Amino acid sequence: MPLSVIPQGNLPAEFSQRYQAVSGLSTIDFIETLFGDEALFGPVAAVSSFGAESAVLLHLIASVAPDAPVLFIDTGFHFSETLRYRDQLVSQFGLSSVKTIQLDPLSEKRSDPSGKLHAIDPDACCALRKLSVLQRALTPYSGWVAGQKRFHSHERSRIDRLEWDADQSKWKFNPLADWSASDLMRYQTQHQLPAHPLAAAGFTSIGCAPCTTAVGVGEDVRAGRWRGTQKRECGLHRPADLIVVSGS
Ligand code: SF4
Repeated sequence: MPLSVIPQGNLPAEFSQRYQAVSGLSTIDFIETLFGDEALFGPVAAVSSFGAESAVLLHLIASVAPDAPVLFIDTGFHFSETLRYRDQLVSQFGLSSVKTIQLDPLSEKRSDPSGKLHAIDPDACCALRKLSVLQRALTPYSGWVAGQKRFHSHERSRIDRLEWDADQSKWKFNPLADWSASDLMRYQTQHQLPAHPLAAAGFTSIGCAPCTTAVGVGEDVRAGRWRGTQKRECGLHRPADLIVVSGS
């Protein structure tokens, strides 16, 4: 059944055509197309937090494009376990183009001299240490690949595999959008992927140490992020400007 895209914002004119071109692809074929066929979307980079579920997407990428650019935003507040896990996955999967990106020390000193901005204004802290850093790093690319899944939270329940990041005027790809928690577990087991060292302690979504806690039984995967505040996202991921419907 054909799909139609109803724009809710300023999608590029070629959006529907590109959407149709990749809509029937399997996850692995989709990923291979993103990194192997620049004619479709131009140069593309993956962005990974090397968190609790990151191994699956990184393993998929490594299996078809081990030299794909992968960006890791080092906010300076990661758990030491995450940094070790990053190094382990890079080495084990043979990813050859992982780049750690971070705020320059001068901007950090000027904008957050005490290093306590995360406690005072977490939105400003994420904008400074994540958004601005990623925006700069994505300059040479026309699209970016993220590890979001719909089951993560209410906020992510309508994400699509192909979106348009209007804030950055870039393509946005969520290859695992429709994967469930059991799909991830199955893939992890099948390929014997190493777990994040904090996963066994109940950390289902892992970001910066001051803003991440373990989750309890029955909570959202992301319930441990910015616990006790209204904040649900760091700002990298915003609702897409599209609705996709089945045609007759
Ligand atoms: S998650 Fe917390 S420490 Fe990390 S950038 Fe955002 S507010 Fe700052």
